[in-house]
Amino acid sequence: MRIVVIGGGQAAASAIRRLRQLGYDGDILLVSREPFPPYERPPLSKSHLAIGAANEPKMIFPEDFWEENAVDLRLSEEVQSIDVETNSVLVGTKKISFDHLILATGASPRKFPDQMTKGLNGTHQLRNVADANRLRSQLNPGRSLVLVGGGFIGMELAATARQLGLTVTVIERDERILNRVASTQLSNIIRQWHLENDVTLIEGQETTGFLGTKNVTGVQLSNGAEVCADLVVLGIGVIPDCALANAAGLQVDNGVLVDDYGSTNRSGIWAAGDCASFSFEGRMVRLENVQNAIDQAENVAENILGANKKYTPTPTFWSNQYDHIVQIVGLYQPGMITVCRQSSGRLSFWHYSYNNLKAVEVIDDPKTFAIARRLLTDGRSPAPELVADDDRILKEFLRSA
Ligand SMILES: Cc1cc2nc3c(=O)[nH]c(=O)nc-3n(C[C@H](O)[C@H](O)[C@H](O)COP(=O)(O)OP(=O)(O)OC[C@H]3O[C@@H](n4cnc5c(N)ncnc54)[C@H](O)[C@@H]3O)c2cc1C
Repeated sequence: MRIVVIGGGQAAASAIRRLRQLGYDGDILLVSREPFPPYERPPLSKSHLAIGAANEPKMIFPEDFWEENAVDLRLSEEVQSIDVETNSVLVGTKKISFDHLILATGASPRKFPDQMTKGLNGTHQLRNVADANRLRSQLNPGRSLVLVGGGFIGMELAATARQLGLTVTVIERDERILNRVASTQLSNIIRQWHLENDVTLIEGQETTGFLGTKNVTGVQLSNGAEVCADLVVLGIGVIPDCALANAAGLQVDNGVLVDDYGSTNRSGIWAAGDCASFSFEGRMVRLENVQNAIDQAENVAENILGANKKYTPTPTFWSNQYDHIVQIVGLYQPGMITVCRQSSGRLSFWHYSYNNLKAVEVIDDPKTFAIARRLLTDGRSPAPELVADDDRILKEFLRSA
């Protein structure tokens, strides 16, 4: 049997590790556009940009993992197409057949139209190590950086750039930073960290144009204002890489559509990670985080080997900014009832829908996070008024909720 994996990120790596852990001893072929074996993306907006950091990314597995696990690693290569009739992929000019195919193609940064960015030098995006190295060479103290987009990547970059001594402005189109991914309460705390670190935040303003002739000199906002910049990073979200799936006639809708088991509408073709769209709590979602890439890919590997196991994730995300760590479990949605808990000076926000605990956001408190994650994984819902009582010991909820 041959399993072909397209994509060289976390999902690809995790699927392969699980296949071998479970004793699969057939062929595995990994095709990745990138020149490196799968590496960790989270450091790219954080430690990788620090002065003196290595140019090479932090690998997910030790160097010898690939050989020891007999993985045919095709780096700097690309799958051009999938033929669902013959169960084969085209890599360069070669057709390679498969018994199972895993799409782990990830996502790419959303772009502004070319007529808007005008090919100006100094306009960056951040998804891979080449992007990060290019950006790092420009992050010199005293320069002014404009970040378009106040999502997690934008805010992490703002923190990193301030620590490197740049002047930083974040421009967010929505009424507040982190609107799509965090509660108002958490956004407010994170906003405060950035204000204390002299980041300028402009919320509720769309970026309508880029200034400059050869090099970018600033951006223009919907209210007519102009913000000067020596360099600009666009952090306006990602688009799932599903062109291959689309061309092959697989079902695609904001991601490669997969069922509860990770299978596409074509038997033997699976998807996992940032590129996969699946049903979660009654709606279709794509989860753009490392934990999902690991868990969903492992679930697919198990199902390829016959486990027939539904994927029931507990969405989990973290972000580092300045000296803080934010951890989120579950999916927050506007309209949820929020309870704030403060124990030993540590804050967490507990979000409920109809008295059911749905998400918890935790600041600098891994212990509380671990308990919240267990509660959500077990489907337990401690009463909001008990959670709000700071004198209660959280561990009690694990026994009684
Ligand atoms: C800067 C940054 C910081 C982040 N920080 C965090 C964080 O703090 N916490 C967190 O949980 N998540 C974070 N994330 C998100 C997390 O890294 C992603 O969710 C995760 O990497 C998704 O893994 P994946 O394997 O699905 O996709 P990816 O890692 O995107 O990998 C997909 C790979 O497939 C390759 N590919 C695509 N099409 C083809 C093709 N046709 N042929 C060959 N290869 C192909 C791509 O080049 C890419 O290498 C961050 C992401 C970025 C970019």
